[in-house]
Order: sequence, then C-alpha cells, then structure tokens
Amino acid sequence: MSEHPSEARPAKAAPVAPRVRDLARQAMEKIEMLGLEPTPQVYELWFRYFQGDPEIKSAIDAHPSVLDEAACHKFYKRFLSETARADAIRTISDHIQQAISDLAGTIDSVKSMTSDYGGSLNDVSEKIKNAETLEELADAVSSIVEDTRMMLEKNQNLEYELTSSSTQVAELKKNLDNVKKEALTDGLTNLSNRKAFDKQIRDWISDADAGGGALCLLMIDIDHFKKFNDTYGHQVGDQVLRLVARTLTDGIKGGDFAARFGGEEFAIIFPNTPLSGAERVADSLRRAVENKEVVNKNNNKTLGRITLSGGVAEYVKGESVTSFIDRADAALYEAKHTGRNRIKSAK
Ligand code: GH3
Ligand code: MG
Ligand code: MG
Repeated sequence: MSEHPSEARPAKAAPVAPRVRDLARQAMEKIEMLGLEPTPQVYELWFRYFQGDPEIKSAIDAHPSVLDEAACHKFYKRFLSETARADAIRTISDHIQQAISDLAGTIDSVKSMTSDYGGSLNDVSEKIKNAETLEELADAVSSIVEDTRMMLEKNQNLEYELTSSSTQVAELKKNLDNVKKEALTDGLTNLSNRKAFDKQIRDWISDADAGGGALCLLMIDIDHFKKFNDTYGHQVGDQVLRLVARTLTDGIKGGDFAARFGGEEFAIIFPNTPLSGAERVADSLRRAVENKEVVNKNNNKTLGRITLSGGVAEYVKGESVTSFIDRADAALYEAKHTGRNRIKSAK
C-alpha cells in the first residue's frame, strides 16, 4: 500500500466513464424485467435503445405491446442484422474493457480505503498514548469505533460492486463468445459458414506452403436440388440440407473441416491428407448420403433418395486460393456432366 499514502490523496470513487456501464446495466435490467433470454442480439438491441438510437427508440416506443422475444428479434433483424455483427463484437469488447477497468477502479478504492483506515488507526493510537483524561480516551475510542463502522459499511458496498462487476464481465464475455461463434456459423445447418471456410483454407494453405503435409479440398453440390425443392417445398429442402450436413460431419475425422459453401453446396478441407485419401472419404460420404432415406418430418412420408456430386483437388504448393478452389470446382463440374452422383478428381 506504500504507493497510496493516505494523507496525499483524497478518497476517490472508482474512476470510470459511467455512461457505457450505466447503459449496459440498464439494458441488462430491462432484459431481466421483461423475462427475455439475454442473447447477444437482445442485449445489443436494448443497449442501442438506451443509447438513444433514434430508429430503434421510436420503433420500440411505438410498439403496441410489451416486447417479447420474437418482437426483439424482429427489431434486431430490421435494424441490426448481419452487417452489424462486427459492430456488436466491437461494442461488447469495449464493454468488457470498461467493466474490467471498473473492477480495477473498485480494487483501487479498496486499497485507498484500507490505507485511510490505517492512517486513522495511527492517529488514534497517538491520541490514546497522549490522553490525559478519561474523556480524551473515550473520545479517541469512540472515533475509532465510528471509523471502523464506516469502514465495514464501505467494505460491504465495495464487495457488492465487485461481485456485480465481475458478474457483468462474465455475462459480457459469454455474449461476446456467442456473437463470435454465430458470425462463423451457418444458421441453417450449424456447419461453419463461408466466412469461416475462407479463413480456414487460407490458414491451411499457409501451413502447407510452410512445409506442412498434403492438403485436399472437396467441393460438393446436391444433385437436382431445385427439382426437389419445387416438388416438396423449401422447408423440406431445408430439412435435406440439415440431413446432408449431419451426414458429412458424421463421416469425417475431427481434424477435417466441413462448411456450407453457399446454397446447396458444401466444402470439406482435409489437412495432412493426400489425394487418394480424400477421394476415398469423398466417395464414402457420397454413398452415405445416397443411402439415407429422406423422410418428411411433418408427416413421416418417405421422399426417396438424394444424391450429391463432388470434386476433389490436392493443393499444389504456391498456387492461389482461387486456383485451388477453381480446380476442385472444375472436377465437380465434370462429375455433374458425366452423370452426377459421383466424385471426380482435379488434374
Ligand atoms: P444440379 O444437379 O445441376 O446441381 O441441379 P440443382 O437443381 O441442384 O442446381 P441449381 O443450381 O439449379 O439449383 C440449386 C437449388 O438449391 C436452388 C434452390 O432452390 C436450392 N437452394 C439453395 N439454397 C437453399 C436453401 O437454403 N434452402 C433450400 N430449401 N433450398 C436451397
Ligand atoms: Mg449448386
Ligand atoms: Mg445442385
């Protein structure tokens, strides 16, 4: 405590910008009051509301009834959709920084308070030593009793502040992890999305260029999916996409990386795998899908089989990401044009 001489500085409150913290608190309290699930989206929406975002404020204020989860997500979608995600990550990160500096401030004031208290103990001990009358002694004792009482009271407040700040940090951290994860996940199939794929393939290409093992890419496209959608409807189509996604994940090893590339196209990256190995896995995935019977969950009716075509390529050191993907795509194109439900390899 020597860096905080009690006489040199006035007791100071935690030095924090109250605005962000207050807004975060208001948002959390509102979410709790409305009995909503504190998802990153709901939190972001209410934070922006209390921050005074004019569009969000007027939309929410004009809402005829109490906001439920569905209404929150509708507003979130309208005002803070995909493009706002990077913003949300930044906002929540800032709030975590803020909450951490709140904590540091609180700890600082505990230090200063303890050292203030130490100072008054010294004073009192002097007074007691020098007391000449019983009254002087009684005065000294009662002043330390009062100081002790105040110290205990402040201590309790600080304890409360500390606990609530650290709870807030933990909540915000969870929010941040969720937003980050969502930003890289495909909402329909729960596979990694295109953004995650783009990063993964770049990372692994760098590893391969730096002397890593063989790297393969499999591009997959569901056969005649448009017809399937047209016949059974989009919702059943979505079920099929989920089924295919699950079949792919179940059929690869933990180190492989499966993503939804777009629409009804998937991509799998195989690290440390030569072409022959990737071809083998690709064909077993093709067979696994072909052997699945598609059942409409709504009425348990069998809808027949679904097939897929695939193209595999092995990375050639030094080639660009685009060229690597293009070669796998060209092989996929060949699989389509030679009858579908097959895997072809790139030259
Ligand atoms: P091919 O064998 O040549 O690949 O024929 P295809 O019909 O599968 O290919 P095409 O590219 O003509 O059609 C792809 C279809 O995939 C169009 C669209 O209806 C469907 N699709 C893409 N994304 C989704 C989705 O998220 N959900 C559903 N249900 N269907 C999707
Ligand atoms: Mg397609
Ligand atoms: Mg297709």
